[in-house]
Amino acid sequence: MKISVVGTGYVGLVTGVCLSEIGHNVTCIDINEEKVTSLKKGKSPIYEPGLEELMVKNIEENRLEFTSDLVKGYSGAEVIYIAVGTPQMEDGSADLSYVESVAKDVATYIKNDSIIVIKSTVPVGTNERVLAIIQSLVKGKYKVNIVSNPEFLREGSAVKDTFHGDRIVIGYAEESAGRVLESINKPFGIPIFKTDIRSAEMIKYASNAFLATKISFINEIANICEKIDANIEDVSKGMGLDKRIGEHFLNAGIGYGGSCFPKDTKALVQIAGQNLYDFELLSSVIRVNSNQQYLLVEKLKQRLGNLSGKTIALWGLAFKPNTDDMREAPSIVISQRLVDEGANVIAYDPIAIGNAKKILNKEVAYAESFSDAIKGADALLILTEWNEVKTFNLEEINQLMKTPIIFDGRNCFDLKDAMKANIEYYSIGRPPVT
Ligand code: NAD
Repeated sequence: MKISVVGTGYVGLVTGVCLSEIGHNVTCIDINEEKVTSLKKGKSPIYEPGLEELMVKNIEENRLEFTSDLVKGYSGAEVIYIAVGTPQMEDGSADLSYVESVAKDVATYIKNDSIIVIKSTVPVGTNERVLAIIQSLVKGKYKVNIVSNPEFLREGSAVKDTFHGDRIVIGYAEESAGRVLESINKPFGIPIFKTDIRSAEMIKYASNAFLATKISFINEIANICEKIDANIEDVSKGMGLDKRIGEHFLNAGIGYGGSCFPKDTKALVQIAGQNLYDFELLSSVIRVNSNQQYLLVEKLKQRLGNLSGKTIALWGLAFKPNTDDMREAPSIVISQRLVDEGANVIAYDPIAIGNAKKILNKEVAYAESFSDAIKGADALLILTEWNEVKTFNLEEINQLMKTPIIFDGRNCFDLKDAMKANIEYYSIGRPPVT
């Protein structure tokens, strides 16, 4: 099967590489020539565990290629995956201009009947709209079908998720197109759930909205735990033992970030609103998350008072471990608030530091390592639960910091260990160690 994948971001690149790994001939198209040049050399422009190795292997085995030449990229493709961005617009709705631009390119460059697969997260009705755009331009010259195939991979474990995900959702109107997608995906060996196009589009938004709700829910429970001297870790565990609740996604922290939950929750509130439905629950989830991101700074101010001239270290900047993605990371608003309060901010992240330098306030300074960041610091804020953080020697923290005070937004350390190391330790939803 000759497949083209449009967009080589976190979703498109992983999709293209993994489809080639299961034996398909894949051409990845991107209009960003710099990215394509790097990809052709076997260099991944994004950090994703295991991706680059798999990419190089499939380039060498001639199943995977990259191009920014649209004529070459689209011609001969039997199936075209659209995996370009759908960022948030000012009113919270999804910006579909990239998807629509690809629709026009498809209509301009295809040379045969094609199946268009939308992987990007798009509001309900978009697949139909994209098909209408293409059909209006192709004018019956070729038969074009559309299939909704939303993506559920998680950054940081995207390759693993593609081979071991919980389900593949395929939404289609024409049986023949659905069958082609089923056969393309069969080698992944993951359960395939078939449905209509609109339901498939909604499954993606509903799934992300539900996961975001779980996070905001457990964060509010954690905030209450702090007030009543309960421990969120035990509360989560005890809740998770109930199969109806499930043990996953019940980790309290400083809120969700990243390129999906923030924008997809806002987009779903918009989708509901456009259809005269007030999605009150989800609006609260978004509000709770935004407040949660400022929690550590509030606690820090309560403890240290005026932050002006204080040196505050930040450990972790990416919105979660194992990724270089800084989109909507809590570190953005937290570092900004600290700078506004007059603190000297020194940050370290093992992978996202390059991207962070491009977007964080210019007053933020950067360290060379986790140890380097805390030397002489008045307090440490933990924002990302990198493995190196979770395994860091607490005694060393005590020795390096001016005052060993930690505000841990990811509950990385055991309370007993913090006590033993003589660290003043404030985490989320657990009793403070003072
Ligand atoms: P991204 O911003 O990382 O990548 C998008 C890529 O598309 C860029 O490389 C850009 O240059 C390219 N592009 C834009 N217009 C193009 C065009 N006309 N032709 C060719 N290439 C073009 O985006 P992403 O994070 O991979 O997300 C893509 C979609 O998948 C979004 O809708 C997102 O919501 C969804 N999604 C993302 C994730 C995730 O974890 N990142 C997970 C599930 C779903």
